[in-house]
Amino acid sequence: MDDCIFCKITKGEIPSAKVFEDDKIIAFNDINPKARVHILVVPKKHIESVKHLERADKEMIGELFLAAKKIAEEKNLQGYKLVINVGREGGQLVDHLHLHLLS
Ligand code: AMP
Ligand code: ZN
Repeated sequence: MDDCIFCKITKGEIPSAKVFEDDKIIAFNDINPKARVHILVVPKKHIESVKHLERADKEMIGELFLAAKKIAEEKNLQGYKLVINVGREGGQLVDHLHLHLLS
């Protein structure tokens, strides 16, 4: 967790192009965008992946999707994809849960 890049971004120890932040969620532009809009929506709490979710996290997961929706509305996106990679075999490279918002 100490060397987690998204925890460091959450704490402001690594710079990011932030597009949204509240007490539970932070969102910033992906450094290597795969689409014209490619934003990562990240819970501030360190959870490794969907595999590591517990029932106690269900409110946070709701906040994650609502933040994505809010960002999409603010950016006036007509359509978009929300993607979560799970595990190395699922294409997950950063072991801190995040939602890709692509448009
Ligand atoms: P995933 O493969 O689902 O784990 O996605 C990780 C994403 O994080 C990739 O799309 C990377 O381009 C992105 N990424 C890695 N480091 C940074 C960073 N410092 N700032 C913004 N995005 C990053
Ligand atoms: Zn982390």
